[in-house]
Amino acid sequence: MSAVKEQTQTLSFQTEVKQLLQLMIHSLYSNREIFLRELVSNASDAIDKLRFEALAHPALNEGDTDLKIRIRVDKEKGTISITDNGIGMSRDEVIANIGTIAKSGTKEFFAKLTGDQQKDANLIGQFGVGFYSAFIVSDRVELRTRLGGQPASEGVLWSSTGDGEFTLAPLEIAARGTEVTLHLKDDAKEFLDDYRLKSIIRKYSDHIQMPIVMKKTEWDQEKQAQVVGGKSGDEDETVNQASALWARGKNEITETEYEEFYKHVSHDWEKPLAWSHARVEGRHEYTELLYLPGKAPFDLFDRETKHGVKLYVRRVFIMDDAEHLLPRYLRFVKGVIDSNDLPLNVSREILQESKDVEAIKSGCVKKVLGLLEDLANSEDTSQKEKYATFWGGFGRVFKEGLGEDFANRERLLKLIRVASTHNSDDAQSVSLTEYVSRMKQGQDKIYYISADSFGAAKNSPHLEVFKKKGIEVLMLTEPVDEWWLGQVEEFDGKKLQSVAKGDLDLGAFDDEAEKKEQEKIAVELKPLVERIKTALADKVKEVRVTHRLVDSPACLVVDENELSGNLERMLKAAGQKVPASKPILEINPAHPVIERLKDSAEDDFADWASLLFDQSVLAEGGQLENPADFVKRMNTLMLKR
Ligand code: ADP
Ligand code: MG
Repeated sequence: MSAVKEQTQTLSFQTEVKQLLQLMIHSLYSNREIFLRELVSNASDAIDKLRFEALAHPALNEGDTDLKIRIRVDKEKGTISITDNGIGMSRDEVIANIGTIAKSGTKEFFAKLTGDQQKDANLIGQFGVGFYSAFIVSDRVELRTRLGGQPASEGVLWSSTGDGEFTLAPLEIAARGTEVTLHLKDDAKEFLDDYRLKSIIRKYSDHIQMPIVMKKTEWDQEKQAQVVGGKSGDEDETVNQASALWARGKNEITETEYEEFYKHVSHDWEKPLAWSHARVEGRHEYTELLYLPGKAPFDLFDRETKHGVKLYVRRVFIMDDAEHLLPRYLRFVKGVIDSNDLPLNVSREILQESKDVEAIKSGCVKKVLGLLEDLANSEDTSQKEKYATFWGGFGRVFKEGLGEDFANRERLLKLIRVASTHNSDDAQSVSLTEYVSRMKQGQDKIYYISADSFGAAKNSPHLEVFKKKGIEVLMLTEPVDEWWLGQVEEFDGKKLQSVAKGDLDLGAFDDEAEKKEQEKIAVELKPLVERIKTALADKVKEVRVTHRLVDSPACLVVDENELSGNLERMLKAAGQKVPASKPILEINPAHPVIERLKDSAEDDFADWASLLFDQSVLAEGGQLENPADFVKRMNTLMLKR
């Protein structure tokens, strides 16, 4: 053993861990018993990993294949210990896993904390605190661990009082695995009662696949001794059901059991919204138990974020984060898929190419979509509310599917919810089906506006004529919207039409007299249109008279097949090169500013035309290329009266 390793080392927790510990100890005080669920969940994960790795490296078994979790209470010392013969950890792993939080977005998450305990306590649910929950009930925690396959001398003792630092020391450990010892705080001594512990285990950890073993309580032992007439020694009992929950029949599983199992597989602290559980038979046999979380995790929008589906093969855990089992746009779904057909030695590479996996994937996507449809179409308001919650948390990610999952596009389109001029607020609550059912007589398109905020969309000049004619327009304001709108052309046989693109044809809603009048005006304004065109030759590709405006003098539109102004701005903001294209300026013949322009003197005209263009850019939420110029021009014109 090297000299360095013999030393005890004191290290500091990462700043975020310190914050987390503080927050957790205060905010979870009323539900302290969950510490046991978290530690048992970790022990179970560690055994899963060992079992999987031992398939390829049987030496890891070290002659001990009786996999279980043991819980011991020492009333005199005031300790509880949770022991597993799972995979264990090396010294480096202890430092990496316990003492730091390596999840992406952690810093950003902590930056959001307000210092207001009430508010922050709500946020913590999004984060999940796992191991650190030991400190809710302990004033000191020790963790002894030795990685499977390593010599006894490679053991590590980690110890901390949870206030900023931890120590690490080498320790001889004969048995593979991990033991966590909690030195209970004075006010947490209630957990030394083994009846209490057993009931906590049954409440939260009954679904754990591995046996959770405790000593028989004295009373049980005496009773058994009487019945059997034999010895009353130290006997063990398995406290939980110790069978894979998903393999049990649906009607044998209570709602609470489903919920607790969710917390275990998802590492989430809150209840799931809904789940789908089915055994699929036929060419591919598998069981799926898939959950919709109640709340979006803090790192949801990171496309690299881990997937929440665990793959099992015939009850044996194979891998976490099985990204090939569900498409990216369903990355918020958590749960278990247990295949009967895949080989136990399946690797990520094999998964990527496997036809079996393709079939499982498409089956599971259908289950998840079915689950969402059930919520969305339910008559029951509480189910409908669940759908709204789902949409609020995950809608943005779900919409990625419109561009990715061609096979299910129609189903996805029916599930999306958007803001609309039909509502008075910005709620994303209108479905395309609903929109279509409200379409006006003679309307054959689904109109939408895309902008970078609800405010910009709602006040856009492009909506004026729609307001006047009472035609509903959908308002799409998230970056992902531009992306899918670029790929989806229609819904239910009706074209999706941007109100800022192409030549607006609301002809069907105009009467004959109106049309005649419009034609007459177009002829009259021809000279003005030509003058503006010349003045703005380097900024616009066309100028034309429009009837889409009511209150604004002018607006910009783009051709049908060009990037929308909103998308162009988004791409530029993301530092991307955007093909050079000029918009079309449309002018409102009924507006006094246009009237005035008709008689503007030659020397002013270019300034007026530029102002018209610039204000149209501003009105749709764009930025001026040269704001100082705009201001100068405006001031010049203001002084000329
Ligand atoms: P999570 O379980 O969500 O990853 P935890 O805080 O509960 O977060 O645990 C952090 C990490 O510490 C685990 O991911 C695992 O790598 C490691 N760990 C915790 N407990 C054990 C254990 N009993 N055996 C092996 N590794 C463990
Ligand atoms: Mg955990």
